[in-house]
Amino acid sequence: MKDYIKEVEKLMQIPEGYCKACGKCCEIATARGSITYKELLKVANGETNESEAVINSANDFLSTFMPFNSIDEARNVNSDFVDMILKSTKKNEHEITFFHCRYLNKDKKCQIYEDRPDFCRFYPAVDKRTFFFKGCGLEKIIKENIKKVDDIIDYLEQKAKNNGQQI
Ligand code: SF4
Ligand code: SF4
Repeated sequence: MKDYIKEVEKLMQIPEGYCKACGKCCEIATARGSITYKELLKVANGETNESEAVINSANDFLSTFMPFNSIDEARNVNSDFVDMILKSTKKNEHEITFFHCRYLNKDKKCQIYEDRPDFCRFYPAVDKRTFFFKGCGLEKIIKENIKKVDDIIDYLEQKAKNNGQQI
């Protein structure tokens, strides 16, 4: 019988060989929930009621990403991304800070690639909510893989139903 668990596990991994190393996901980003730099600093300093994991991830983010000086500077890098974030969060430009990675060089290459943080290694997540930058080499394959996982789940649910089971 087919090993569906193994198949799903494989489909949920970031596929290798599809990243074009374009650097788009490194040159502009927002922090969790698209908060401001000031708000993120408070989280990182433990001044909010967040868990240790959240505090650590805020510090990891800040050790890699630096805030743009202005919204115009961020727009010069990727105005589509800025507009998309403003629209999807329904925030105004004073309620969000855009960041860029300090380790991306002028050729859009990562200067610490072998030692890059985990959140870089696990981007883009195989998840329906993942935002893909225009032209990202991983978008198509990840969306296809998510669809395959959904199809497997549907198939197994239907099969269980036919057998009078619940999964
Ligand atoms: S550390 Fe490297 S991979 Fe991570 S965001 Fe910066 S340039 Fe990109
Ligand atoms: S945007 Fe996509 S293709 Fe470009 S570097 Fe990031 S993951 Fe790779």
